Amino acid sequence: MQDNQRCKGCSANVHMPSEDIRKMVDEIVNSNEFSVVSEKAYEERLSECTNCEYLQYDTTCLQCGCIVQVRGLLKDKDCPHPKGSRWYKKLLE
Ligand code: SF4
Repeated sequence: MQDNQRCKGCSANVHMPSEDIRKMVDEIVNSNEFSVVSEKAYEERLSECTNCEYLQYDTTCLQCGCIVQVRGLLKDKDCPHPKGSRWYKKLLE
């Protein structure tokens, strides 16, 4: 595997199968450990990511290295876009 296909922070592969992402999302939603955004806000966040130049492989934010389908769920996380968050505060409601 090429070096540019590994996470900068660890040795994980940056390509994550959609079923693995789905499992992570389900675990977060079904746990009481995390505060998550509304379904509408989640969809709007992911829509911003879909149109963002920093999204790679349809899953990975090149600014933070996060899987956006997971980061977008979390209320206390924001978009790290260098020109300012593309996830607007109103979407946190
Ligand atoms: S910079 Fe923001 S909008 Fe762009 S992919 Fe990352 S989290 Fe999504």
